Amino acid sequence: MYLKELEINGFKSFAKKSDLIFTTSISGIVGPNGSGKSNVAEAFRFVLGEQSIKNMRGKKGEDLIFTGAAGRSQRGAVKVVFDNSSKTLDIDYKEVSIQRIVSRDGSNEYLINGSKVRAKDIQELLSAANIGASGHHIISQGEADKILSINPKERKGVIEEALGLKAFTMRKNEAERKLARTDDNLKEVLVEQRSVAPRISYLKREVDKIEKARSMKEELRILYKLYFPTKKRLQDELSVQTQHIEKLNQEVEQINAEVRALQEKLTSVTSTEGVEAKTQELVKVEKELQVLKGVKAEKEREIGKTDARIEIATEEKKRYDLYLQQQEEHTSLESLSAAVHDMWVKWAQELMETETLSQERTKRWSALLVPYAELPESEKEKDRIQAREITAVLDEEESVRIPEFDELKLGRLNTEREALHAEIEKLSAQEVALEQKRDELDDVRDSSETVGQKVQIEILTIEKKKSEILGILNGHKMKAQQVDAQVQAFNIEEAAARGFFGQETDSFFVATDTPGEPEMNVKDKITRLKVLLENGNLGSSGEITEEYNKLVEHKQFIDEQVQDLKATQDSLNELISELADQIEVKFREGLEKINSAFARFFQTLFSGGRAEIFVTEIPIKKQDEDDPQEYEIGVDLSVSLPNKKIRGMSMLSGGERSLTSIALLFAMSSVTPPPFIILDETDAALDEANSKRYGDMIELLSKESQLILITHNRETMSRAGILYGVTMGSDGASRLLSISLEQGEQFAK
Ligand code: ATP
Repeated sequence: MYLKELEINGFKSFAKKSDLIFTTSISGIVGPNGSGKSNVAEAFRFVLGEQSIKNMRGKKGEDLIFTGAAGRSQRGAVKVVFDNSSKTLDIDYKEVSIQRIVSRDGSNEYLINGSKVRAKDIQELLSAANIGASGHHIISQGEADKILSINPKERKGVIEEALGLKAFTMRKNEAERKLARTDDNLKEVLVEQRSVAPRISYLKREVDKIEKARSMKEELRILYKLYFPTKKRLQDELSVQTQHIEKLNQEVEQINAEVRALQEKLTSVTSTEGVEAKTQELVKVEKELQVLKGVKAEKEREIGKTDARIEIATEEKKRYDLYLQQQEEHTSLESLSAAVHDMWVKWAQELMETETLSQERTKRWSALLVPYAELPESEKEKDRIQAREITAVLDEEESVRIPEFDELKLGRLNTEREALHAEIEKLSAQEVALEQKRDELDDVRDSSETVGQKVQIEILTIEKKKSEILGILNGHKMKAQQVDAQVQAFNIEEAAARGFFGQETDSFFVATDTPGEPEMNVKDKITRLKVLLENGNLGSSGEITEEYNKLVEHKQFIDEQVQDLKATQDSLNELISELADQIEVKFREGLEKINSAFARFFQTLFSGGRAEIFVTEIPIKKQDEDDPQEYEIGVDLSVSLPNKKIRGMSMLSGGERSLTSIALLFAMSSVTPPPFIILDETDAALDEANSKRYGDMIELLSKESQLILITHNRETMSRAGILYGVTMGSDGASRLLSISLEQGEQFAK
């Protein structure tokens, strides 16, 4: 790569567009003081990305824009053009133009091949090619010995840049910045991670509790489903018990009624009044019976009398009838005998009907029960005798009197008799009734004690039965109470269940086929779960779970961030340490090379002597600490001039300082040759002999790098392939023109 062109327009003293074409390896810029030569060097710094206005001798961006008698430019622009055929610049163009424009408001524009880019892009592109805005390859006027005056650490930086380690350093710095940012981020994230941890662990505990409560509630639901169906069974049982109780109460009532009746009976049976009343009644009845019997006996006697009178009347009638028969008819002995016999038959019949007869008499009377005609003659004769006797008596009586006979008498007597019989029958009925009543009263009186005992036994039996029933009744009542208490317990439990499950509780009463646990076991578990659940707060469970989930998600995000940041830290640390290693190795190797070149150039310039650069440890002093703990690396140098004893660089003369600096700068440039070197009057302090040596070294350097030399030195001018003269007219604007060596000498004056 080589530097082709520099175009300056409106920058500093260059009011108009001025081009410098670099066709040779050494170009010289000459001109009188104040014509604007150094502005050309600054134009290089500017376009290569110098950020320090001070380094370009300005205070603000506006100071870089032309202002003069010729007017005032609005923008200061510088463009540099490189031939990039060798691809030194890592960009796919054979020619690369880099342009920077500053506006009066201080803003800057950067362009690569006309396209806007960032300053950083230009910096990166150039540093990769070992070109920088303020490196050792642009030595400003009066800064030739700057490399000696800066401190070891700064010197180390310049050497690193010269060795092309800037790109590495930049990368390392970038990595370190990133690492610092990563550290800060990690710190922040770790703080957040730590701040989240207590809340998350608190929420975790709460969520665990909620989860546990939820599973307990589920368990409670299952238990309730086992528990509540029993209520129906208990209610059924309670109604069965109630029915039993009602039935038994009725039985008891009935028994009580029976007992009351028996007690009344007992009271009435056993009371003295009762017995006396019965006795009096009995006496009365017996008296009545006696009277009745008397009346009846009287009536019977009257009947007897009536019967006798009837018999008499009947005899009378017979006799009368016989008399009439005798009177009115011829009564044969035979018919009389038959009549007598009939009478006997009738008597016999009546007798046999009414009386109990001996066998003999019965036989005898039975023999009479044959009609007269059928009688044997001997019997007929008995009747005939009787008939004759009757006839004789009758005849005799007839002879004395005519029998008197009342025809109605017998009828009357019979009626009387019948009336008496009826009366007797009535009396008999009354008698039977009285006797019955008497017997009853007698019985009552006689057996009142026995009955009392019986009733008492009966009462006792019933009471016993009653107490048995009461026993059973009590059993049922107790059972009912027990069941009722259980039902009440179910009701209480139901209220609790509704508290937990609301409407859903209704479904718990439906029996399922799930085999149940022993009831007590279920109830115990329910009670235990309820206590545990009531102690836990499920009210805001949704919010807590939501917060927990969100926080867990956030924590995961933080953890991932921590991991990512740690991974970034690791990879950055690795990169930094790799880069540090590379820088270290390249630095040490480069330093060694520079050191030997430095010694060589020094000896050339001073015709002997010794010069060396070396690594030094600089203690980092911390505030309030006398004993520094840390050190940083720097580069120091020591020289010894031929035939002189010097102690420290400050003892060198101005020329000696210049020569030493040039030796070191050239040594640096020879080890890692930059594409171009701009030296602004680095040769100012050199005498003629040294100018010659300087010129030789320049030529040597120009083999590897393009040189742009701003100089007043003729020797230096003579080494240049092309000379640009810079002039400044009365308008305050610099002008460029290509000149010859001879003209250059004139220009430089
Ligand atoms: P010497 O040989 O004395 O070192 P030189 O040729 O290097 O001089 P410079 O230092 O490059 O000269 O230029 C200085 C001149 O540039 C001054 O005259 C100064 O006024 C002029 N100058 C600087 N900035 C501006 C600007 N913004 N506008 C106009 N002129 C400027």
